Amino acid sequence: MSRHSVATRRATSELCAYCSQPAETRDHVIPACFFPDPLPKDLITVPCCLKCNREFSFDDVWARNVINMRQDVAIQPRLDGVRKKMFANLAKPRSRKLNAMLVRLTQRRTVRLPSGLILPGQYVVNVDRQRLLRWCQRVLRGLYHHEHGYPMTPDLVTTVGFGEDHSEFVTECVSWLQPRLLRRAGDGIVAYKWVACPDMPEASVWCLEFYRCMVLLGFVHRPITTRNGARQSHEVDPKTDARVVRRPREGSDPPRD
Ligand SMILES: [Zn+2]
Repeated sequence: MSRHSVATRRATSELCAYCSQPAETRDHVIPACFFPDPLPKDLITVPCCLKCNREFSFDDVWARNVINMRQDVAIQPRLDGVRKKMFANLAKPRSRKLNAMLVRLTQRRTVRLPSGLILPGQYVVNVDRQRLLRWCQRVLRGLYHHEHGYPMTPDLVTTVGFGEDHSEFVTECVSWLQPRLLRRAGDGIVAYKWVACPDMPEASVWCLEFYRCMVLLGFVHRPITTRNGARQSHEVDPKTDARVVRRPREGSDPPRD
């Protein structure tokens, strides 16, 4: 039996890491387009349904492009192979929509580097941060499945941020992560670590790192219940970019994102 058919049979007996429907295929949690060719052998894959797999491809390429346009990523010579793939893809007619989006988001302005150096007339892409965070939430769901061997249950949601929340609670969560070692994949191009919350074992704190410089903090947790009974997930509505507030329906589980 070929490697592919073994992988397919294994996937069909499992549930999709993203929507918990029966899986017909496997998905690279960190998409293959994030890595130079030849692909590293240690890429993480999880069971995935065909519908989710098809829906992800545009966002995967978009996320790869915007992350690779970061200055601290763009200066890494070992990622030349990724940029080669990126520009080859952008040159294809099918990338017209993606190209138009990038042009629309690009501005020319003066940039101040962390060192204090001021560079006038630089081309800067204004990244849709909410969209990037939504993409990271999906990666977190994939990593959750990889670590646990099953999808997140419907009563759990994800929250991801760029580590800009310095509240006492978040600082404490980060301290739980500190003794944990980073697990690297894809020749070290991505890394993550996670820890279950001491008093809520169903909840966990995650650190995600891309290209050794873009670091995000993630949480898997139950939705927060507000005073009026609404359940707030911290996840973002893809259509409106508004925070999703879910009111529980009697006798039903909260819908997943
Ligand atoms: Zn699915």
